[in-house]
Amino acid sequence: MISYDKQYFIGRFSSLQTEELLQSLLVKELCDEAVVAIDEILQSRGVVGHALELQKQGAIKAFFRKSSATNQCDFCGRSRNPLWNWTRDGAQKFCGKQCFERARLMEASVDIPLDVVLDHAASMRFGPCPVCAKVGSTVEMRHAHYVFSVVLFAYHESSHVLACRRCGIKRNVLAAISCFLLGWWSLAGLFSTPVQIYRNVRLAKSPDVDVPSKDLISQARMDLAVNFRKLDLGHEIRGIVGGRPRSGGASAAVER
Ligand SMILES: [Zn+2]
Ligand SMILES: [Zn+2]
Repeated sequence: MISYDKQYFIGRFSSLQTEELLQSLLVKELCDEAVVAIDEILQSRGVVGHALELQKQGAIKAFFRKSSATNQCDFCGRSRNPLWNWTRDGAQKFCGKQCFERARLMEASVDIPLDVVLDHAASMRFGPCPVCAKVGSTVEMRHAHYVFSVVLFAYHESSHVLACRRCGIKRNVLAAISCFLLGWWSLAGLFSTPVQIYRNVRLAKSPDVDVPSKDLISQARMDLAVNFRKLDLGHEIRGIVGGRPRSGGASAAVER
């Protein structure tokens, strides 16, 4: 496998605008060498400390306002047919109202300080399971993978839900059974069914880590943004984030 060193990435990224660099850093999955290269370029431009944090926030917000010329939703990236009835806002287009609202909530949630988000993620983690309502098993974002196939086509799907470990294992077992029953019926399915079954088994067997996952933290951000909006503070988040949310931030009202 070809691997690139830091100098390669410095050469490749140097011509990018600071905002583009920050978006790459925050949104894309980059290898360690690429991350170090971007850090060095930012330092050489004097983007460090508080200035860096502010520019990061601006870059994420700009990311949620980006529009593409393709047939893809500007929030979830899903491709749609050319005649799709897009929900439009300025130059942006979305699959529907839900993607539009989630994009705006994600943008607004950038202003919520990390310590408030982490507190909320912790309360979600040790609170009641949104699926079975039981307490005592860690709540996390639980993923499951599926494959259905027929003759020439294999359809893959991955889904996630906020749930306790017991509910997560149950979902992975059901997903593995579903793959076993419905996955094999095409040539592509013959290859992908064992992979999808393995992914579910691995998820079911992996123990929870001690810290909230990136997905849970992201859901906590979204949850807080929803709470702020319910309190009719959606456009005022910037003004109130210096203090704690009046809701106490422990609502289990999670949008899935
Ligand atoms: Zn969408
Ligand atoms: Zn549960």
